[in-house]
Amino acid sequence: MLKGAHVPGRLPRVARQLRSGRRYRSVAIEDLAWDVAEQPTSQMQTSRNGVIEQLFAWWLRLPGAKLPERPDPELMKQVIDAWYRRQETIRATAYAIPCDECGVKQGPCITAERKLVTETIHKPRLDAATKRVDQMLAEGERAAGDTQAD
Ligand SMILES: [Zn+2]
Repeated sequence: MLKGAHVPGRLPRVARQLRSGRRYRSVAIEDLAWDVAEQPTSQMQTSRNGVIEQLFAWWLRLPGAKLPERPDPELMKQVIDAWYRRQETIRATAYAIPCDECGVKQGPCITAERKLVTETIHKPRLDAATKRVDQMLAEGERAAGDTQAD
């Protein structure tokens, strides 16, 4: 298993061969930037990896390095707005289900030590809410697709 090699489910599961002179390296990237980059990079027939490499090479003034083309601002506004809506829906969904970690039936999680309300949602509860929301969104897209097909 290649560390850091993420192959989305809809692509054929083929081991990706790295071009020579490359290795998988770990970097931490904020969820918002990582998530919203998927659609524009796919539309522009590049990848998040490709854009990061171009930016890094440009920043380092490597010979021949050029800035990558930026995505359409209207597309990005839509994608970013949708990301925030999804996050809000996940939070609201998590608050509506009980948390096995801290025992709250609904509402914000509480810290174990001092029983204080926390902004952080315990991971199993957050994961359950994320799964529910993504199922709802997938069903919504299927329904919208059916309507368009009629
Ligand atoms: Zn909790």
